[in-house]
Amino acid sequence: MPPMSKIATGLIHHPYTAPAGFAAPQPGVFKASTIFFPDVAALRSRDWKNKDGYTYGLHGTPTTFMLEERIATLEGGKHCVLVPSGLAAISNVDMALLSAGDEVLLPDNAYGPGKALAQGELKNWGIGHQLYDPMNPADLQARIGPKTRLVWLEAPGSVTMEFVPLAHLAQICREHGVTTALDNTWGAGLAFNGFDLGRGERRVADSGADIVVQALTKYPSGGADVLMGSIVTRDDALHLKIKLAHMRLGFGIGANDAESVLRSLPSLPLRYRAHDRAARELARWLGNRPEVAQLLHPAFEGSPGHAHWKALCTGGDAGEEGWAAGLFSVVFDERYSAAQVDAFCDALRLFKLGYSWGGPFSLVVPYDIPTMRNARLKTWPHKGALVRFSVGLEAAQDLRADLEQALGALAPPR
Ligand SMILES: *Cc1c(COP(=O)(O)O)cnc(C)c1O
Repeated sequence: MPPMSKIATGLIHHPYTAPAGFAAPQPGVFKASTIFFPDVAALRSRDWKNKDGYTYGLHGTPTTFMLEERIATLEGGKHCVLVPSGLAAISNVDMALLSAGDEVLLPDNAYGPGKALAQGELKNWGIGHQLYDPMNPADLQARIGPKTRLVWLEAPGSVTMEFVPLAHLAQICREHGVTTALDNTWGAGLAFNGFDLGRGERRVADSGADIVVQALTKYPSGGADVLMGSIVTRDDALHLKIKLAHMRLGFGIGANDAESVLRSLPSLPLRYRAHDRAARELARWLGNRPEVAQLLHPAFEGSPGHAHWKALCTGGDAGEEGWAAGLFSVVFDERYSAAQVDAFCDALRLFKLGYSWGGPFSLVVPYDIPTMRNARLKTWPHKGALVRFSVGLEAAQDLRADLEQALGALAPPR
C-alpha cells in the first residue's frame, strides 16, 4: 500500500484520462471555477471575449457555450450571454448601456421588477427613467430626448396582456438612433422573432429590437426549478459591451442549471404549443362566463392589441392559429369585491398560487392593477379585480372543472 501522501496527491493528479470521442444525446456537464492553461504563454494571451478557448469558469465552459449557441439560434440572433435570472438579464443590459445623466424609457406595463430597478438603483446612480404608454407610439415618440440611451419593449404587457405595436415602437427608436431591448419571455423565441418584427403591423423589413432578453426560467426551463436569463444580440459591438459588463459584474451561471435547460430545450416547441392550446380553451370558456367582464388574451378579438398580435404571430409557419403563451388574465365584473375574487383564487385546487410561470403546474395570482400602473398615463380603464392565470400541462378538462367549482364557491355579487 502506498504511503498516505502518495494517495492524497494521486487522487488529485491521476494519470488516467478518458478516451476522446464519447458521443451521446446530451452534452457533458463541465463544472469549473478555474481552468488549466498549458503554459505561461497561453495564460498571458488569454482572451475571454469569444468562444475560441477557456479562461475562467465564470466566463464559460463547454456546457454554457453550448447553451448560449442554442439560445442565440432560438432567438434568431448571433451572440448570447447567460445570467442567473431573467431579472439579471434586464439589469445586465441596463448596467452595460446606461451611465449617470442618461435616461431609459420603459413601457408602463413592463415586468414590474424591471421598473423597480429603474426607480431604485438606476435612480441612485443618476440614471433617469420615464414610463411610456406602449399602446400609443406617439407617447413614446414624444418622450425620446437627447438623454435617451435605451428603450425597453415587451409584448404583451405584464399581467394586463395588451399586445403592443412592437414594430412601430422599434421603428421610432431606430429613427432616433436609440438602442432597443425587448423582453421576449412571453414569446419564448417561438411566437415571433424579436430581431425581425417586419411581419408586424408596420411590415418594415429591418424593424427589430437590438437586444432580446428572455427569462429562461419560464418556458425554456419548463420545470419551474431553474432561474436563468439570456441576452441575445446580432451586433458584435453591442454584444461586447454586454459581455464586458457581464464579466465585471460576475453574473455566472451553474453547470447543473445549464444542463437542466439543455435537457428541456428539445421539447420547448411542443410544450409551448400545449400550454397555448389549453390556455385558449380555458380562456374562451372563462371569458364567456357572466362573472367575467373582460378577457385579456392577445389571441382573442376584443382583447387589447389583438390586431398587433395577429399581424406578428400568425401566418407563415405559425399558421392561422398563430402562437401565444399559456397565459391570460380576466377582469371580474366590478360587482364582485376584491375580497370575493381573492376567495375564488383560494378555492382553486389544481391552480396553485404562484408567480413564476412556464412549468407544468397551473398557477393563479390576483393583482391590484391600479397600484401597478402610472396614474398619469391612464392605461388601465377597468374597475373590477384582475386575476392572471398561467396554464400548465394538466388535462384541460380537469382545469376547467377546477375553475367551475371555484366560480361556484363565489358568493353572489354585491
Ligand atoms: C419572470 C420574468 C422575468 C424575470 O425572470 P426571473 O428569472 O424570475 O428573474 C422577466 N421578464 C418577464 C416578462 C418575466 O415573465
